[in-house]
Amino acid sequence: MALLAGRLFDEGDAGFSKNSSNMILVKLHGRERLIRGMKSTIKAISTGILATMLHPRVLKLFYRGPLTILMYHGVIDSPMIMPDPCMIDINVFRSQLRYLKKHFEVVSLTRAVELMEHDAITEPTAVITFDDGYQNNYDLAYPVLCEERLPATIFLSTLFTDTDISIWTGVLQNAFTLTPKMHLEWRGQRFDLSTLEEKKKSLSAVRSSLKDGPHQSLMDEVENIVTELSEGDPISLDAESPYRMLNSASIEKLAKSDLIELGGHTHSHCILSRLPSSTQEVEIRKSLELVESFTGQPCRLFAYPNGKKCDYDEESLSILRENGVKAALTTESGCYAPGTPMLELMRIGVDAEASMSSFKLSLFDIQGRIKGLFANKA
Ligand SMILES: [Zn+2]
Repeated sequence: MALLAGRLFDEGDAGFSKNSSNMILVKLHGRERLIRGMKSTIKAISTGILATMLHPRVLKLFYRGPLTILMYHGVIDSPMIMPDPCMIDINVFRSQLRYLKKHFEVVSLTRAVELMEHDAITEPTAVITFDDGYQNNYDLAYPVLCEERLPATIFLSTLFTDTDISIWTGVLQNAFTLTPKMHLEWRGQRFDLSTLEEKKKSLSAVRSSLKDGPHQSLMDEVENIVTELSEGDPISLDAESPYRMLNSASIEKLAKSDLIELGGHTHSHCILSRLPSSTQEVEIRKSLELVESFTGQPCRLFAYPNGKKCDYDEESLSILRENGVKAALTTESGCYAPGTPMLELMRIGVDAEASMSSFKLSLFDIQGRIKGLFANKA
């Protein structure tokens, strides 16, 4: 159609019509101009509406707030072969922080907990958090946080410290990226790996299915898939991999920083609700104890791996309570509203592939507000 439209314009521009077929071309030419004109008017109007919508004063009107807890994972300084929405470009990250600093009161999670407990949040307030504990949190994110003097909390899955292994999601992403195979046979299904786009789709489908199983079977299956994808040539994380986990020297430096707080994220990054109570306790306690060994202080902050409502249960909540955790963060999307349980705080996940406009809307939870409006009407 675009090609056809282009041809019509070329022919129309060449001169006036002298026969009926050329008359049709002139009519179409006029119609195309009209459509083009309408399109650019609609574009100008929607750009205007968007610009108005995105004005901080307007966004604040819609903001239910008063607290947005942002969730990041990793920061990268060069593009990945297969982009991961959890790994954000450092320049985009810096721009987001600057915007945040300009329009929000950015506080540490501990400070936010105090404010929430005393119902004392008066201004739009934000907290920055990182899940998992990737080495790039120290190498790339931390210097930007220092430049902007903004506090953040990093939740560590402590099993991976000083190892060459990573969380299963990163291991899988790495294996799908580097595999020379054109397809994967798994659970009776054939997954296309012939292009990056197909790899991305296949990875997403495999990852979602894996999350349904108990932790040990998930890990066994990940190992089998990685072995299959590597064709006997082990796929390891290279030194520059964004999935490399924090080493203890970096954690020690972060622990000493007045800008960084550390929290637990289980020991092996397992989905708690899939585990028996005793294993949940080991996973939670170990991560809290290891964090304490770095900070020298009781660890009061925690984030649930995977973090949806179905990924933790009453057992998890009572283990956290018994171990003195004051705030636990989910990955359920939303802002804090008075009355939200402190062990089930919601967050706004930052999608590394989203535009700055989308980031601004999510920061003020505009999507959540719109969803809420529709939910109320239903
Ligand atoms: Zn995680």
